[in-house]
Amino acid sequence: MRKTVSILGSTGSIGKQALNVITDLSDKFNLFGLAAGANIEVLKEQIIKYKPKVISVRDKKSAQELKKYFPGLEILFGKEGLEEIAGSSQNDIVLIAVSGTAGLYPTIAAINNNIDVALANKETLVSAGSLVMNLAKEKNVNIIPVDSEHSAIYQCISSKDKDFIRKLIITGSGGPFRTKHLNDMQYATVKQALAHPRWSMGSKITIDSATLMNKGLEVIEAHWLFNIDYKDINVVIHPQSIIHSAVEFLDGSVIAQMGVPSMHIPIQYALTYPQRCKGLKSETLNLVQISCLDFAEPDLNRFPCLKLAYQAGKSGQSYPTVLNALNEIAVEEFLSNKIKLTDIPNIVEEGLNKHTPVHATDLNEIISADEWGRNFAKDLINKYLVN
Ligand code: NDP
Ligand code: MG
Repeated sequence: MRKTVSILGSTGSIGKQALNVITDLSDKFNLFGLAAGANIEVLKEQIIKYKPKVISVRDKKSAQELKKYFPGLEILFGKEGLEEIAGSSQNDIVLIAVSGTAGLYPTIAAINNNIDVALANKETLVSAGSLVMNLAKEKNVNIIPVDSEHSAIYQCISSKDKDFIRKLIITGSGGPFRTKHLNDMQYATVKQALAHPRWSMGSKITIDSATLMNKGLEVIEAHWLFNIDYKDINVVIHPQSIIHSAVEFLDGSVIAQMGVPSMHIPIQYALTYPQRCKGLKSETLNLVQISCLDFAEPDLNRFPCLKLAYQAGKSGQSYPTVLNALNEIAVEEFLSNKIKLTDIPNIVEEGLNKHTPVHATDLNEIISADEWGRNFAKDLINKYLVN
């Protein structure tokens, strides 16, 4: 039976690859909705090529602009537009691939309407993990991870294994500064930080990969998805990105998921779950050609963001929400050349130290903790401005 899918964040890195996946498997999927931010040119091409039934864009102006080209198409906008598409009963599954905290609202809308979620957007679980996972349990909705490490772990654990896990091993390539000295990192340009050695991704997650905040966010994401204590989640640097993550069981057996480093695999897996299919881009892994795999411990002195994320996760309450908000603003400021890469952890640390935590189990508390973090980071920027 065909599944009906909506893709939120269709003009981004994950969104475009997801459109390739459903085109490759066109006998398995129907497209319902597409949502994007402000990249109207790419969205126009997608509307013509993929013929969605409804679309949403970030603001009213973009919606009005698009309406001129597609007068017969339902065009929504803003947070409500994302929620309306995600929550539509037309969907069997919704891919949440918008970047940043904007992913939270449509995720909640989909779950509230009993629609399965393929979740690429990690900020949603970092910011509101308890709320989202409890709601999904209550509504009996599947949250299928798209993030490659979490997809790997999801693929390693069958439901009967859940009680026998000793630890999760999350791998990471180490990013563009894996072998660089702290001095080089201090003077890193935006271009250098965006030059990821393995993955081609959106700019926010690429900067998070350069500071290893991405691994920190993934540790928190894994905690909520798999209900595992932080002390049992390890991060291992693995530059070849062949083992996407692993699970160690109580008897010492370790199951890892491997594959060529391509986001097509976890995107396709999430959309076809629980089945697997041969997609057009299903490459074979050639272990002989790869020949060796390396592993190392992350260096927390050069990459303090990972340490800060563990601290925020372990402290719980609203700390992860605030970590995420502080980091989003600090990354934006780095991308605008206003602060140094190495000031991102400084801003996050100052904010976490000053934060008075709240429980963060209901949406209003989460929104106000998120706003507090954003405002705090914005107020701090002057202190870190580069000339
Ligand atoms: P991109 O920056 O490439 O794409 C983000 C997408 O979200 C774009 O389509 C953008 O629209 C849209 N968007 C942003 N804000 C809004 C908004 N307020 N309303 C509607 N649409 C919005 O990001 P990625 O594809 O790289 O990442 C997406 C998510 O997936 C992130 O949360 C990331 O952490 C996660 N992820 C990504 C991976 C990857 O390989 N790229 C791997 C694992 C996780 P527009 O461009 O039109 O403005
Ligand atoms: Mg990842």
